[in-house]
Amino acid sequence: MTELDPDTLLDTEAAVVILEKDRISKANTGAIELLGDGIINRRFSELVSTTNRKSVSRGLSTLKDSGRIWEATFTSEAKGVEVHVHGFVGNLKGKKVIVLLLKGINPEPLLTGILNSLEEAILVVSNKNKIVFYNKAFLRMWGIESIPTFNREELMEIARDKVDNYIEFVDRLERVYKNPSDVYRDILHMKDGSVFERMFKPIEVQGMQDLRMWVSRNVTERKKLEDKLTTMATIDNLTGLMNRAKAEESLKREIYVARRYSTPLSVLFIDIDFFKRINDTYGHATGDEVLMEIANTLQNLIRESDRLYRWGGEEFLISCPKTDIDEAKALAQRINSRVGAVCHSNICVTVSIGVAQLFGQESYRELISRADKALYKAKRLGRNRVETNP
Ligand code: GH3
Ligand code: MG
Ligand code: MG
Repeated sequence: MTELDPDTLLDTEAAVVILEKDRISKANTGAIELLGDGIINRRFSELVSTTNRKSVSRGLSTLKDSGRIWEATFTSEAKGVEVHVHGFVGNLKGKKVIVLLLKGINPEPLLTGILNSLEEAILVVSNKNKIVFYNKAFLRMWGIESIPTFNREELMEIARDKVDNYIEFVDRLERVYKNPSDVYRDILHMKDGSVFERMFKPIEVQGMQDLRMWVSRNVTERKKLEDKLTTMATIDNLTGLMNRAKAEESLKREIYVARRYSTPLSVLFIDIDFFKRINDTYGHATGDEVLMEIANTLQNLIRESDRLYRWGGEEFLISCPKTDIDEAKALAQRINSRVGAVCHSNICVTVSIGVAQLFGQESYRELISRADKALYKAKRLGRNRVETNP
């Protein structure tokens, strides 16, 4: 066992504590800076955060029994800083003691200053669910002043109040921590409407293992602008219905959901009969009014879960999740007789409708194309009717 000289041992740059019979008998100023005042005679494990207490106690007793060097990282309860400890057994004036060399692993002041002046929120965590570092933008992001205990449980409590969909938030975290060496990006929505773009990646720091960093950027303003542009790009000006671009996008998702949950999905392709004649007879402006009124009529006939789109010109598409071909055909027939029975802007029109239900692995294009073929058949067979494919 190493024979120790307490004076040289404590008079070093490093933070040092000496344990005799599990209690701190000596500590230098460096150690007090990391662990707080009044630590003499305290048990070392009481000075670490509650989450680290068990593992530190275990580490210390193994060190005492085996005499092998012990290395660990813990959070100082009093100071909230992350500390690396390197412990060994020594001999001090004939007594067996434990010597712990401590090293604070917080960034340098210059680095802290730089990180705190960033707009991006930064959080660094260790693989043991511990928070190693966060900057001011991170506190702003979560609307808090500090994370006193420096553990992730506390942060999760804060998140519960803040994030828009907490269950999904937890789900995503679990997925991320399952593959901690992967880079991960997502968008985080807060209850107050703010939106953050996040990135998660492993980082390399000398002497420390398995550190990961979250970087989040507030993109609320940009998202608002994007949403506005998206609305402009997805809504049809005349009828206020979603347009074809939106139809294609939504239909892809609906197809995905239908496959995932093995539920039927049907589409109705609707085309106004002889619409050109309306324009020719009454003028384009009246034609527009008729189109708007038909859009309203259709909207009132479908279910909440169905979606109505203006596909183009005088063509409409309706997607009906959880609806098989028979139910969709019944809806199409209702629409067909309803539109034919009422007049729009005093002009009576009829519609032809093609109906198709999603097949096994077909794409949205194939599905639409089959509905379109059914529509073509309805036209060919005299219009003002419903046909299905197959
Ligand atoms: P069919 O029964 O075969 O469908 O006959 P149709 O006349 O409806 O078919 P066609 O496709 O030949 O003509 C569609 C017409 O719809 C042509 C176009 O002028 C008119 N149309 C398309 N979009 C608009 C619009 O936004 N406003 C008005 N007023 N008319 C439109
Ligand atoms: Mg047409
Ligand atoms: Mg037409």
